[in-house]
Amino acid sequence: MLVVLNALPDPVFVLTESGLYAGLFGHADLNYYHDGHDLVGCSIQTILPAEVVDWIMEHIQEALNQNGLIKVEYPLSAQQVKGLENQAGPDGMIWFEGHIQPFPQLINGERAVIWVARNVTPRKLLEEQLLEASQTDPLTHAANRRRLLEVMQVHFGAFRRYRHPVAMIMFDIDHFKHLNDRFGHLTGDKVLRCLSDICRQELRENDLLARFGGEEFIIVLPSTTAEQAVQTAERIRNSITTGIAREMGEAMQVTVSLGVSELLDSDTSHEQVIQRVDEAMYSAKQAGRNRVVRYSLAE
Ligand code: GH3
Ligand code: MG
Ligand code: MG
Repeated sequence: MLVVLNALPDPVFVLTESGLYAGLFGHADLNYYHDGHDLVGCSIQTILPAEVVDWIMEHIQEALNQNGLIKVEYPLSAQQVKGLENQAGPDGMIWFEGHIQPFPQLINGERAVIWVARNVTPRKLLEEQLLEASQTDPLTHAANRRRLLEVMQVHFGAFRRYRHPVAMIMFDIDHFKHLNDRFGHLTGDKVLRCLSDICRQELRENDLLARFGGEEFIIVLPSTTAEQAVQTAERIRNSITTGIAREMGEAMQVTVSLGVSELLDSDTSHEQVIQRVDEAMYSAKQAGRNRVVRYSLAE
């Protein structure tokens, strides 16, 4: 029977309620797992960081309380486990899928669980890539509209609770059709990529640049008032024109028109601020383009 247990492809831990490694079986392939058999007899408190111990103890309790199988996913590297640091095995962070089930007998008078840990790192990385792709515009690597709306929903919820200001800038390239006609669509694409890179350099880590449509972008600026965002918008307007000319040649005279607004106490949805920046941007176009217009309630 032990032969079968040790031939299991994934590690099978027996962990008691107080955190003792009462048994460990399986997982012979060093391409997937480090050899953890020396851990048997140790308690998790002596070999794992405190926050990992707390997390494991919590899930042992959850499985015991539910009296059934629970499933978890977690990252863990050999570097975090005392005794495994120098063992052969996969480098870096490993993602595990843990299946935890109550053990049918007491061990040393304690309740215990069986914890099967399967290396699911390739699947997890693929999931992360797919999530990233589903939220990103492939041409410019800016966030796409779906991601923008998700982020705005979160900001709107927080704004209603805490009233921290959230500003928004919308901008659109002036006469982009002419540029495409004159230099070709591929050069137009390059302008869009260059413009996104320039914007990102101007923004803070928590700001979000999103491609809203063809040559229309939205920037979300948390903890920023519309007044402050007007200055950012002016800076971006300048950087885009000078940056694109620098990167792509002086013949490439690209300007943008920008609208600015912020979340208002009277807003009932995040869509209202999008409506306002759109109107302000339209005013900027009407007023002659290559300028910033802040939405005014008086309009
Ligand atoms: P305006 O100043 O009024 O904004 O003039 P415009 O020519 O920029 O405005 P319009 O909205 O009429 O045209 C937008 C153009 O943007 C038309 C379309 O071919 C171009 N465009 C949209 N998406 C892309 C893209 O992904 N790549 C390229 N190269 N061009 C695009
Ligand atoms: Mg345009
Ligand atoms: Mg447009």
